[in-house]
Amino acid sequence: MKIHLKQIPPQGLHLDGDEDCPLQNLEAEGIRCAGQLHYSIDLGIAGGALWARGSLSQPVELSCVSCLEKFVHEIKVPAFAVHTELHGPETVDLTPFMREDLLLNLPAHPRCDRDGNRVCKGEKPETAKEDLKRKPDWSALDKLKLKR
Ligand SMILES: [Zn+2]
Repeated sequence: MKIHLKQIPPQGLHLDGDEDCPLQNLEAEGIRCAGQLHYSIDLGIAGGALWARGSLSQPVELSCVSCLEKFVHEIKVPAFAVHTELHGPETVDLTPFMREDLLLNLPAHPRCDRDGNRVCKGEKPETAKEDLKRKPDWSALDKLKLKR
């Protein structure tokens, strides 16, 4: 997303729209673009620097760490913020900043049920562990009952 500095009026500029997904070529990482990037940002120039503030959202397809199924997750960046010094060129590309903030907001261990709108078919490791722990206790109790 290239910003032409000459197009920014003194009072700043509000931009709302969609752009091509900036997270291309991450398929090896298990991340696939599942739609366009949506942005809603304010920007302006102050003291020889460009600033931008706003929010981003980007739907991506991820693989669940538990059931390995693919699911669509919307990466949300509620407080996108950029402050970059201007060194002469008339355009500033915000795409690298957007890409970085989107990646920072990616879930480290994506689970398909994280948004609560589907049930993961994978094992829930914590519950499984609890079951293993409980079984010996119950067998001990059964033996106790038999003796009486
Ligand atoms: Zn799952």
